[in-house]
Amino acid sequence: MTTAVIPDLTAYDEAALERAFAELMEQAARDAAHLGSPDAIETFRLKWLGRNQGRLNEISSRWLKSAPPQAKKSIGLRFNELKKKVEELLEQASGAGPSDAALAAEAIDITLPGTRRLTGAEHPITRTQNEIVSVFAALGYSVGVGPEVETDFYNFESMNFPPGHPARDTQDTLVVANQERRPPRDRLLLRTHTSPVQMRTMEQQPPPVRIVIPGKVHRNDAMDATHSPIFHQVEGLCVDANITFSDLKGTLDHAMKALFGSSVKTRFFPSFFPFTEPSADVQISCIFCGGKGCRKCKQSGWIELLGCGMVDPAVFAFAAEKQPAYDPKKISGFAFGMGVERIAMMKYGISEIGQFYAGDMRFLNQFV
Ligand SMILES: [Zn+2]
Repeated sequence: MTTAVIPDLTAYDEAALERAFAELMEQAARDAAHLGSPDAIETFRLKWLGRNQGRLNEISSRWLKSAPPQAKKSIGLRFNELKKKVEELLEQASGAGPSDAALAAEAIDITLPGTRRLTGAEHPITRTQNEIVSVFAALGYSVGVGPEVETDFYNFESMNFPPGHPARDTQDTLVVANQERRPPRDRLLLRTHTSPVQMRTMEQQPPPVRIVIPGKVHRNDAMDATHSPIFHQVEGLCVDANITFSDLKGTLDHAMKALFGSSVKTRFFPSFFPFTEPSADVQISCIFCGGKGCRKCKQSGWIELLGCGMVDPAVFAFAAEKQPAYDPKKISGFAFGMGVERIAMMKYGISEIGQFYAGDMRFLNQFV
């Protein structure tokens, strides 16, 4: 491609050689005058120094090798000068850096204030959830997790909500569509409590079990000041030989004191949950008025905070299908559950549950 522009040498006297090489020097300088980009520099390098079709290679083979012996030394010296010149031009172009205009366009005013990057912080829900978990972790509980999209079996049936049982109406939820061909117990839904993880844990691990299960749950509840269709729970399960209701009371009394202060009292009222028998609601003495009665506790001095009870033998029977050690005649246990939002609202004096999910930085910044 470059052969055409290199003429044959017709004369070998000093003046002719001088002219021929001067012409090449000028060409190289002209070529090197506009080497603005790495691509252009590479094109220049290939044109002059390319191993196969470069001009210097061409000159070497066409001028030097065919020259008469007496002219070879002179051509060789000029050839080396030309090569040195081309290499210098290339070096200058490579090291020259961007143009002044390019530099001006990229200039940064280092006196301007920097872009402030906010440090992340725990969301109040996450923080409260971690606080609850750590209270139980200190008692030797480990943390269990499980899927949010659950089967009917784990969410309801194994928790002693039989198909068609009215107790299911208390925990209506979203059901995954198009599952009519599946057996009812395998149909998928959004879990209404973290209790399915209790069953999943027992199926995999013989007693003793002590776990807390934090997580997101879903219910068909209309949004209002204290309800949300999505919220968070921490549940707990303790199973071993000779676990009694006293153990349950002592554990939860300790946990409430650890969360709300040592002066907090607890009291237990009979209640109903399908998966525990007997079941209880737990109230704590009002943390706002110390039990004297105020607007927050509706003048009662007490605030209802969690549900609990002794694990129903029917639940153990489901676990025993895979782990025979869950024989209700030999072991017993308790379970409890609390809403993280409810506790966070109490701890931080928040009156609207929706604040937690609005993503409003003015709200969230208060917890940094
Ligand atoms: Zn009160």
